[in-house]
Amino acid sequence: MTERFLERFGAAPTIWTRAPGRVDLMGSHTDYNLGCVLTLPIGRDTWIAARPRRDNFARLHSMNLEASAEFNLDSIEPDAGQRWSDYARGVASVLAREGKTLTGFDAVIHSTVPIGSGLSSSAALECAVATLFEALGGWRLDPVRKAQLCQRAENQFVGVNCGILDQYTSCVGQAGCALLLDCRDLSSRAVQLSPALQVTICDTKSKRELAGSEYGRRRAQCEEGARRLGLKSLREIPLGDFHNREAELPADVARRCRFIVEEHDRVGRMAEALAAHDREAIRGLTAASFRGACDLYEIGAPPMLAMMQAMLNAPGVLGARQAGAGFGGCMVAFVEKARTAEFTREATAAYAAATGIVPDIFPVDAAAGAGRC
Ligand code: ADP
Ligand code: MG
Repeated sequence: MTERFLERFGAAPTIWTRAPGRVDLMGSHTDYNLGCVLTLPIGRDTWIAARPRRDNFARLHSMNLEASAEFNLDSIEPDAGQRWSDYARGVASVLAREGKTLTGFDAVIHSTVPIGSGLSSSAALECAVATLFEALGGWRLDPVRKAQLCQRAENQFVGVNCGILDQYTSCVGQAGCALLLDCRDLSSRAVQLSPALQVTICDTKSKRELAGSEYGRRRAQCEEGARRLGLKSLREIPLGDFHNREAELPADVARRCRFIVEEHDRVGRMAEALAAHDREAIRGLTAASFRGACDLYEIGAPPMLAMMQAMLNAPGVLGARQAGAGFGGCMVAFVEKARTAEFTREATAAYAAATGIVPDIFPVDAAAGAGRC
């Protein structure tokens, strides 16, 4: 990154920031329904090397995309031709509206979060940019507030209607533990996972074509369900009450809502199971989550089924499920740490044999949230 910075900007960077990607360990699509999620900030992250400028220009270069962009901090507009830079423009725009002093800069960006695979490279970029503005301006935001502002940038400026999960994990995460996040009041508590367990990402390397449009449809169906039941959000209804009342809903809306209410109910139990290395509970909860994702919420895809089989047949696996929004992309397996290498080898071979696609399977540990380095 330093070499690239010298090449493009003619001097060495003086400020470094980073922000992690994340994987959800339980709680698919619960965030925008104001439910709970068990989430892990991962040691795949987005780095920014920067140097302040004397004028009000922001000049960015992404090593991942081999692309450059430039904008004036006094008049921040989206750029359809450089959509990737909208994540940075959006953060700048939201911070400016909050009355924060913005400083011009030159920056090189490099990420080890796979882009567009469900591990939230978009939030990692936003949170690294927000942290850069803090460092340049000499002011600080509370991490939860920073997450909310980055979410607002993605919602309002980029136009992606995501929940708070990605930005919260990237800003608030702590090294060494998962977070049990309550999206209703934005509180979280640290969860220590069993040290004998290895969280392992299994990237199907398949395109997530439906993710955008279907995400919006799922969200609308959840909102419809909540409205018909007279609730502010699906979070408000206990599982037993929902089962008694789901007949009031149109069948497709009922299935979507049932998944959310059941998935929210699994989150706390999964936190306990992963802390206690409770093999039976991990197996049961992950299997129910994946079954619901495929049959009720319908966010499965053929490559995910192939990966699920490959993961469950590999040695050392305790359980496995979808991750992110679904529709392909990454999945997550919980593996006995001592058997991670065997698991990776065999799951890779089985998935490649079934699909003709070589997956990317790698272990992840809990990394620190966004910060200067
Ligand atoms: P995910 O967040 O799951 O990786 P998204 O579709 O939400 O997938 O966000 C991916 C988009 O974020 C990319 O298409 C690109 O526009 C932007 N992005 C993320 N990381 C980078 C990066 N390192 N350099 C440039 N753009 C990035
Ligand atoms: Mg994203």
